[in-house]
Amino acid sequence: MYDEILTQLIIKNDTKALLLVADGIGGTTVGGRTELEAARTPNLDTLAKKSSLGLQYPVGYGITPGSGPGHLALFGYDPIKNQIGRGILEALGSGMVVKKGDLAVRGNFATLIDGKIADRRANRISSEESEKLVRQIRENATDIDGVRFDIKVARDYRFAVVFHDPELKDNIEDADPQHTGVPPRPAKARDKESERAAEIINRFIDKVTEILEGQMPANTCLVRGAANTPDIVPFEDRFGMKPQGIAVYPMYKGLARLVGMDTPPGLETYEQEIERLKETWADYDFHFLHFKYTDSAGEDGDFDRKVAMIEEFDSGLPEILKIEPDVLVITGDHSTPSSLKSHSWHPVPILINGRFAFQDDAGRFTEREAANHGILGHIPGMAIMMYILANCERLRKFGA
Ligand code: ZN
Repeated sequence: MYDEILTQLIIKNDTKALLLVADGIGGTTVGGRTELEAARTPNLDTLAKKSSLGLQYPVGYGITPGSGPGHLALFGYDPIKNQIGRGILEALGSGMVVKKGDLAVRGNFATLIDGKIADRRANRISSEESEKLVRQIRENATDIDGVRFDIKVARDYRFAVVFHDPELKDNIEDADPQHTGVPPRPAKARDKESERAAEIINRFIDKVTEILEGQMPANTCLVRGAANTPDIVPFEDRFGMKPQGIAVYPMYKGLARLVGMDTPPGLETYEQEIERLKETWADYDFHFLHFKYTDSAGEDGDFDRKVAMIEEFDSGLPEILKIEPDVLVITGDHSTPSSLKSHSWHPVPILINGRFAFQDDAGRFTEREAANHGILGHIPGMAIMMYILANCERLRKFGA
């Protein structure tokens, strides 16, 4: 947001900000109330009374965001201008490192019989079985025609591949016939610049098919979602704050790394995330901490468990608040109402706390309180980073 003037406005100082993201925390009413309204959240309530509240739209009105665009917006990047392709997202979710100039694809192990695709998912083999196949591929090939690649199991029969060659461009039709009983379909370039990448992908498929020959049910692969690493200005260059991203799951660590955040390894619980936050508070200007379980419960359509997860998120706040951030923001990367069992377009409540934040009349951190009493009103997700900077006194006056 405000790309044209941002660099001239940024000031550096000693303030520190914390962005707490409870994934999919927003919802919609079921029998008149949302999960946030049904939850007992004494700590969020206390904070809400001392903060500015509002509702934010991660991507735009009516748009249901994936977690990728949702987080990019929270990190202050336009999620429409900085689109993250499927291949990149799969690679990040598998815990792979992607660098500028890489090309990533998603793959499926598949079954080929008499020259035709008999099963697009190789009988849905398990992650363990895929692990063995991936090892076999790694042992037999490290490059395709001189292009180095990494391959990793994503989940079950799915994997991700990252090709390291800046010459490979991603305007490519999927190498996936989408149907069974038809021959494999090679990747096809949609423009001249992508021809080399299509060729490398097709050679990769041939190589995998050669290595897995005679095995069943997985003896070939389909490849989709070719995508280059988006060209993103690093967070510290853009906002002048040294950032850390604290998350348990690879996808969110990957998204944080994509914008140049340091991401500590080896965290498995919310408690460990909070511990890490406290230990490293002094080392960074900006901390992002991700809480996953609100989204998982919403996706499962489990209202009561989502309520319980919101309460768990709430119970970590007293420990977190001991670090006394200059500016604290609490929000989600999108809503995940349990009634929809999926992400949704509903706006997400947001709370901004800090010395200069207006104390409005919102008494709780809920969608309704944010809408009825929140001074922030309805804002684009990308605006959050601007408000963080402003509340940190890190934005100078615009114009004389
Ligand atoms: Zn999410």
